[in-house]
Amino acid sequence: MEYLLTNIHRIDSKGEGKGILGVSSDNLITYNSKKTKKPVSFNVGGDYYAYPGFINSHDHLLGNYFPRVGNGPYLNWLPWDNDLKSAKIYQERAKLTNYEIYFIACLRNLISGVTWISDHIPHVVNEKFIPHLPINIISRYTLAHEVSSYDLKWGDPKKEHEIAKKEKIPFITHIEEGFDEEAKKGVDYLKEYQALDEYTVMVHGIALSEEDLKDIGIAKAHLVWCPTSNTFMFSKTADVKNWLKNKINVCLGTDSPMSGGLNLLEEIRFARSVYEKMYGEKLDERLIFQMITSNPAKAFKIPAGDLSENSPANFVITRKITDNPYTNLAYLTLSDIALVVVNGKPLYGDMKFAPLLKELKIQHWKIEVENEEKFLAIRGSLKILKKLKTLLGYPKYLPFLPINLD
Ligand SMILES: [Zn+2]
Repeated sequence: MEYLLTNIHRIDSKGEGKGILGVSSDNLITYNSKKTKKPVSFNVGGDYYAYPGFINSHDHLLGNYFPRVGNGPYLNWLPWDNDLKSAKIYQERAKLTNYEIYFIACLRNLISGVTWISDHIPHVVNEKFIPHLPINIISRYTLAHEVSSYDLKWGDPKKEHEIAKKEKIPFITHIEEGFDEEAKKGVDYLKEYQALDEYTVMVHGIALSEEDLKDIGIAKAHLVWCPTSNTFMFSKTADVKNWLKNKINVCLGTDSPMSGGLNLLEEIRFARSVYEKMYGEKLDERLIFQMITSNPAKAFKIPAGDLSENSPANFVITRKITDNPYTNLAYLTLSDIALVVVNGKPLYGDMKFAPLLKELKIQHWKIEVENEEKFLAIRGSLKILKKLKTLLGYPKYLPFLPINLD
C-alpha cells in the first residue's frame, strides 16, 4: 500500500510545517517526485493538523468497562481494588470474553487518536491477544504491579528490573499510589534494589517526596501522570509541577475507565484544568503534546512519537480548531478526530477520506460517533459492538464508546 496525503500541516518534535505525508506499506516515506509511477494521492487541505499517533501511557485494557467503581478518597489503591472486585459491575464485565474487552479497549483508544498503548498487566494475560488487536500494544516490557509488600505479585521488582536492563526494555510499575507508610517508601525500595534508572517507568507517584523526585530526576527514570484516576480515587493528584521542575520525563495516561478518564482527549482537558487549579497557572500545551508523543516513546523505548522518514506510519489527523496546533489538542473532542492511521493503514476517520479508502481498496463500515458519520476499517468490530446491545437484555452504553451502528 502506497499513498500520499498532500497539503497537510504536520507537527512533531522537530517542529511544524506544511507538507506531504507519504506512506509505503507500514512506514512513513519522503516522496520522490521522479518516480514514474505516482502513488494514490489525497489532498487533505488547510483545515486539519497531522500529529504523530498519540500514546496512552497507562491503561489496564481488561478494565475497559463502565461505570467507574469506588467510594474514595482512599488511603491507597488496595481498598479501591477490593471495592472493584466485589462490585456487581465486575460480574457484568465478565459476560464479555477477555478478547472482546481488549478489542473494545482498543476501539476506545483508537477513536481518540491513540495508536500505541501501555497495558499494565502480566504478559501471560495480554500476549495472546496483542497480535490480533487493531492497534499497537507495547509488548516488550518487564513489570511489577507496585513496589510494596501488599501488591498483586505480578513480578518481583528487583528481578524484573534486572531483565529490563539487560534487554534494554522498560521496567514498568505503579509507584506510591497511596499515602500509607509503606506506599511512601516505593522509591526507597527501588533504590535498595538498584532498580531506579533510565529503564524504570513509574505510574501515579501521588506520594513522592522532594527527595524521591530528585533521585528520579538524577536517575533519568520516567513518570506517568494519571490525573483523572488519582482525583477519583484520592481527591488529589501528583505534584506534577515539581516533577517537571526536576526535569523528569513525564508521560500522560488515562488508566482504565473504571477509575480514570474516558479517553486521552478528556485526560488532556482534565490535566490542564487540574494543573491550573493547583498552581494558578497554565500547563504549557507544548508539554502536553510531548507527554502524549515523544516523552512516552522515550520512556517505553518504542519507534513512535514522531513523523520522521522510515518510522512506522502511526499518525492522527484532527480538525484545526485554533491556529496553534498545541493549544488545538486541548479543544479536541471525539468528533474532531478525522483520520487515524495505524502501521500505514487508515483504520478510522471521517467519511471525507472514503475516496482514499476506495482507491486503496480498503473495506470499511459506516458508523456514527457523537452524531457524526465516520468509517471504521476493522474487520470484526461491528460484531463485538452489536454484542454490547444484546449482552444484558438491553443495550449496554459505554460512554467511552459513543458509537451508533444504525
Ligand atoms: Zn494502573
